[in-house]
Amino acid sequence: MTEKSKILFEEAQRFIPGGVNSPVRAFKDVNLSPLFIREARGSKIYDVDGKEYIDYVLSWGPMILGHCHPEVINAIQRAAERGTSYGAPTRLEIDMAHELAAAFPSIELVRMVNSGTEAVMSAIRLARGYTGREKIIKFEGCYHGHADSMLAKAGSGVATMGIAGSPGVPAKLAELTITLPFNNIAAVESAVDMHGADLAGIIVEPVAGNMGVVPPKSGFLEFLRQITHEHGIILVFDEVITGFRLAYGGVQTMMNIKPDLTCLGKIIGGGLPVGAFGGRKEIMEKLAPLGPVYQAGTLSGNPIAMSAGLETLKILRKHVGRYESLGQKTEALCEKMKNIFSQQKVPVCINRVGSMFTIFFTSDEVFDFHSASKSNTSQFRRFFKGMLDNGINLAPSQFEAAFVSFAHTDEDMEKTIEACASIVKSFS
Ligand SMILES: *Cc1c(COP(=O)(O)O)cnc(C)c1O
Repeated sequence: MTEKSKILFEEAQRFIPGGVNSPVRAFKDVNLSPLFIREARGSKIYDVDGKEYIDYVLSWGPMILGHCHPEVINAIQRAAERGTSYGAPTRLEIDMAHELAAAFPSIELVRMVNSGTEAVMSAIRLARGYTGREKIIKFEGCYHGHADSMLAKAGSGVATMGIAGSPGVPAKLAELTITLPFNNIAAVESAVDMHGADLAGIIVEPVAGNMGVVPPKSGFLEFLRQITHEHGIILVFDEVITGFRLAYGGVQTMMNIKPDLTCLGKIIGGGLPVGAFGGRKEIMEKLAPLGPVYQAGTLSGNPIAMSAGLETLKILRKHVGRYESLGQKTEALCEKMKNIFSQQKVPVCINRVGSMFTIFFTSDEVFDFHSASKSNTSQFRRFFKGMLDNGINLAPSQFEAAFVSFAHTDEDMEKTIEACASIVKSFS
């Protein structure tokens, strides 16, 4: 069935480490050969063997409008006809900055970069430069891109492959990153007690997506805001996934919490490589050329990427009310799957926030990385493979989020539920 993908994977491995340009794509954890993709449209993705899948990966989050949205493609084409890169400022960058500042009350100034990794790396440098301190707190299972300081106990591919940190990260640098359990107020209190005067920042995914979906417990984010405020620590919300996925303006807008800095990516590029970081004016003014903290990029604010992102945001802004119905659609899907699992007595914990969810194969509540890692990953593998064989594309790891787009139809949902029912039946 996936002959051509297999041939391409063999060939790719001759020239590309592991055959992929990002580790999570390799299907290593599920012991399968990855699908090579020919094209994607709406809620569907098609492999080189011509098989169609309902896509819940959505390029790991960005494609909230569905693949190949006609207006976004049109914007990209029109932009390309005017040149692909200038290395000089454009009107488009002002429009993008304006759009982001309007969506996020905490963002007064914002700078565009080329990936979420770059956004986080720059925000961390800025937090250190602004405070004159060096230590950073992050949470176990949260993934903030692959910059050196952020690879300690990270989620996503790092968690999937069981890599605690990464060789190549200097021990002296890793020592500056303190990793604490997500949702654990006492752990933060004692770390701040111990390191307070050396702490430049606390970075968090306000709704975690990279250990699978894990929502913040009530009061956790409010507590982080309060304690960072009291100790002059920069609070960084990594909303690379959540920024325009859970609401127009992210988790911070939903919960009315203002971080000092915010990292964005994924959806804001409309499928092109984009990231951004922004926040309080006083902090952002420390960046070059205004201030001494250096940060730059040849392709930053690229006109084609800005056009794709702006068009995506424009469409999303017109449909702010539709976030709620997208969440309801996802809730209905999760409820029906939950019933199927419980009828077949397969214990699962389905965590969902808005249009992102994870089916953890465990009977316990999942509220941090430790509880997530109790999941039965061999059961997950069986489920994943079964779903894929039935034309449902989920992320090839227990520790990832599934995403629903505005392009997913009721028929897609029914097919997904049917596939789920037939696979889970075979479990018992
Ligand atoms: C994807 C992701 C990143 C990294 O973004 P890239 O564009 O892959 O570099 C950072 N933080 C979070 C929360 C992410 O999900």
